[in-house]
Amino acid sequence: MYICIMQAFSSNMIAHFDLDSFFVSVELVRDPSLKGKAVIVGGSRERGIVTTCSYEARKYGVHSAMPMKTAIRLCPHAIVVKGTYGEYGKYSKWVTQIIASRAPLFEKASIDEFYIDLTGMDTFFNPLQWTIELRELIMHETGLPISFGIAKNKMIAKMATNEAKPNGYMQVPLGKEKEFLAPLELNKIPGVGAQTEQVLLYNGFKFIKDIYNTTPEKLEKILGKWGVDLWNKVQGTHHSIILAYHESKSISTENTFEENITDVNKLMNEMVRMTEKITFELRKDQKVSGCVTVKIRYPDFETTSRQVSIPYTSADDEIIPVAKNLFHKLYKKGKPVRLLGVRLSNLTNDAIQANLFQNIERKNILYKAIDDVKNRFGAHSVSRASGKSKGSKNNIV
Ligand SMILES: [Mg+2]
Repeated sequence: MYICIMQAFSSNMIAHFDLDSFFVSVELVRDPSLKGKAVIVGGSRERGIVTTCSYEARKYGVHSAMPMKTAIRLCPHAIVVKGTYGEYGKYSKWVTQIIASRAPLFEKASIDEFYIDLTGMDTFFNPLQWTIELRELIMHETGLPISFGIAKNKMIAKMATNEAKPNGYMQVPLGKEKEFLAPLELNKIPGVGAQTEQVLLYNGFKFIKDIYNTTPEKLEKILGKWGVDLWNKVQGTHHSIILAYHESKSISTENTFEENITDVNKLMNEMVRMTEKITFELRKDQKVSGCVTVKIRYPDFETTSRQVSIPYTSADDEIIPVAKNLFHKLYKKGKPVRLLGVRLSNLTNDAIQANLFQNIERKNILYKAIDDVKNRFGAHSVSRASGKSKGSKNNIV
């Protein structure tokens, strides 16, 4: 009996799927003439950052999160694509549907990343063969390249995918985890950033095998509690949980007025209040939305709605103007309104991916705005909440 249980646990098996340079791949499917070229998806050439780039551009040292200016300096012949936000959501959904149609239990970790629980599948199928066929199905149907790794837990499966990329797959057989991990550099471990890597390098740790030759106590001295976690992580014994995927399609709210409203200002205030309510929910769920819909119903029950794709966000200051704009396009002037509705759809929890689109650009714009005010009214006219000092004229930004 005891041996039986041990076997059940030791046959834990996870597949990690990751679409290769996802946004670029979608652009290539949409415009095959880009194939084989250095392509960068990202913001403006002046202030934007690289969201993702093709492997041809990577050869020149271009990588995600790099300022566009630097990227273009490194690879002047690169073709820069602005990015078609709505399309990425559509393709992601397509891949999700294919996986959902085959896999009994899977987790959607981001817009282009999935974990599938293969545990116990070996009783019925060859799990590797099954996963290869799923990969071929995804590539055949969507035209997007995707890589996978199989291992006993999520972290090692993800690391195997990274080693298999681009456009490949890799299985780390049971019991061979340490053999696979040992020669890899420490920055290959998810969660080990440049800073941790520097500290480890300084202390003589370059490869994962160097961690095998030390004690958790020693790592704790160098990195604190995180050192012990790191030591445990690379032992390959961690048990992963797959968080079952449930599609949360949208967040919405609507309001039927007790009395029909004709006053546009009133309608606008209501619209802002409703939008703030659902963006708050969105942020609480740690999600971002890529689509806003506004609905208006008139007293004669005529109902109209209009939607627009937006760069993924959960920020009020980005969603409210979109909702207002949709309202103005939709509203028949002078007509009383019976019901107003706002909906956020195309939701993803991939905040990192979404932030990459805008962070630097948005911050630049924000600081430019602050500076403009300062220039006009003096340096003390605007300050952050935390920087509040004497005087009551501070506007909190
Ligand atoms: Mg990817």
